[in-house]
This record gives sequence, C-alpha cells and structure tokens, in this order.
Amino acid sequence: MQVVKVDIDTAAPLHPEASILIMYTGGTVGMVFDKSVKHLVPFNFTQIMDHVPELRQFNYLLTVLSIEPAIDSSNVSVSDWLLLARLIAENYNDYDGFVVLHGTDTMAYSASALSYLLDNLQKPVIFTGAQVPIGRIRTDARENLITALQIAATKKEGKSMVPEVCIYFRNLLLRGNRSKKAESTRFDAFKSGNYPPLAETGIEIDYNTKSILPHPKLPFRAHQLLDDRVAVLKLFPGITSQVVRSILHTPELRGVVLETFGAGNAPTGAWFLELLQEALNKGMLILNVSQCDEGRVDQGRYETSKHLQDMGIVGGADITTEAAISKMMYVLSFGLGQAQANRMLSRNLRGEVTI
Ligand code: ASP
Repeated sequence: MQVVKVDIDTAAPLHPEASILIMYTGGTVGMVFDKSVKHLVPFNFTQIMDHVPELRQFNYLLTVLSIEPAIDSSNVSVSDWLLLARLIAENYNDYDGFVVLHGTDTMAYSASALSYLLDNLQKPVIFTGAQVPIGRIRTDARENLITALQIAATKKEGKSMVPEVCIYFRNLLLRGNRSKKAESTRFDAFKSGNYPPLAETGIEIDYNTKSILPHPKLPFRAHQLLDDRVAVLKLFPGITSQVVRSILHTPELRGVVLETFGAGNAPTGAWFLELLQEALNKGMLILNVSQCDEGRVDQGRYETSKHLQDMGIVGGADITTEAAISKMMYVLSFGLGQAQANRMLSRNLRGEVTI
C-alpha cells in the first residue's frame, strides 16, 4: 500500500474559499473502461479534470492522496481504516475538510470505523462513491463528488457546518455510523433507518442542523488502534449448537456482535444460554444488535431477551451492525476490564445510538 500525492490543476485562485483533501481508495467511483483490455480499470486521478471539469468552477484548493493500489471496497481492512485516520490526522490543520472516495459495498463500515478513530472531530469527513463509474455517461460520481466537496467546504460562523464523518450519496447526507448500503442497483444506495439525514439536497443543500453533532470542545486527536478479534454471530431459526460453539470458541476471540431477532430476542434453549454464559465467563464482550433495519433492541421486553440482560449482555439499542463491529474493535483496543468495557459499549460515543 502506498500513498501518492496527485497534483490537480483546478486553477484555484490565490485565496481559495476552502481547501479540501480528497482521499481516493478505489471502488466503482474511480473506474473507467479500458478499450485495450475491455473491462473497467481504476482511473488515473490526474485525469479527474477531464471527467469532472466542473471542479474548475469551485474556488477550492483541492489536493488528492491516492491510496495505491486502488481497491474494490470488499477488500478493505482494518489497516486501511488506520491509514485513513493517520492521513487525516497528519493533514488535519492544513485543510478545511476531507472527502474520501470509497467503494459503496463497505462504505458504511469504513465511515463507522473512522467515526470512532477520529476523536473530537471539528471538520467534515465526507465519504462518497458511485454506482456507475466516473468514465460512463450516466455516472452518478460527478454529482456525488461535487456535492460532497461543497459540503466539506461549508462553514457557518467560521466553523465547519458538519463536524462529523458522513456519507453523501444521491441526495442525502447521512451520519456515517448510522448508514447502511441498502440498494445495489438504484442510485439511492444508502439509508439510515434510525436517524434522520443530516442534509438533503435538491436545488439547495438543506441542512438539518438540529441533527448534526455539536462542535467538540476538546482538541482533535486520532486514535491509532483497533482490536480485530471480533465476530458477528447472526442468529437464524434452526441455528445449531455446533455453529454457535465454533464461533464462540474461535481462538483469541474478544468480542461478539450478536445479531438477534426483532427487539433483541434470541432462543432460550439451555445449550445456547450455556455457550453464551461460558463466553461471558471467559471475559468476552457481547453486544446485542437487532437484525431489523429500524427500531431498537430492548432487552427484557420479551421473555426471549430477558435472559440476555440477566447474563450481562449489552443491549445495542438502535445501532447498526456496521457500526457495532468497529465500536467493538474500538472499545476492545483500550484493554479495559469486562465491566468497564461493557459500560463503554453501552454508551453513545459518536452519535451512533439514541439512548
Ligand atoms: N464493488 C464496489 C466496491 O465497493 C462497488 C462500488 O463501489 O459501488 O468497491
């Protein structure tokens, strides 16, 4: 993995309105059709002005860091998240905002992870991408990039309008750790079932200011550690003890996101409870997250979740699985004792849950 600085000539004036750092990681957004090999290949960022000539109309100073090789976001890993956090930290004071070009498939996971890694964020970090490559006529990359840049540059009373890690896609600005990829073909790929959009775009960009996180008082810092010894255990009717046991007995496993039914309900069979209890006794963290896209976990509402609460499993409220995974990695990275880590897991750390 290497980071290449690409100089693009946007003919920005001497005193630009804003300076934005674009980080290009790959995904459909940056693909062009290569006639010689007859398939889509990552484009060379120096050609950005050919594809999005509108960028010249902005009075922005744009710098691009291209993370090479460009990847399909299905290959994104914890090291990519740490690299993005480090690049933002290293360049934090020099830019007004940051735009991350990323594949859509795992964008919600990456935006969630960055929301935990970037502590006391005062500037926008806007993830965007596209369903149709930038080299195609009907691409959505152009509009998504242009509006993401505009949002990253917007200030109110001298402060960034959206001091958050977000996803901008189609016409919605969503909190990153509340988002899910919900659509693989239509242009409106992302939704945020449990939290309103931070902005909606039409003729204007309409900010929903009361839903945007307040500016933090403490100085920004990037956290540089995640503990990847985690797993997701998705329940389904008929799940066998062998499957549950094999996941919970994974060597070195420290945290489990338990995807349960409805309002946080799970089987009550003795074998299941015994395996969970055994994992908890070993010091594991278990976070109960609903399989529903909307609504919340309410442990104790039904008999089928009361036992989870009694055991000390943490209710994930209305968190997404995408956010729960990196929240677990983040909490585990502090090396706290089980009780303290459980308290941290149950708190609202970055606007990812409504408690
Ligand atoms: N497979 C692609 C990716 O996530 C899809 C996309 O970018 O839309 O990298």
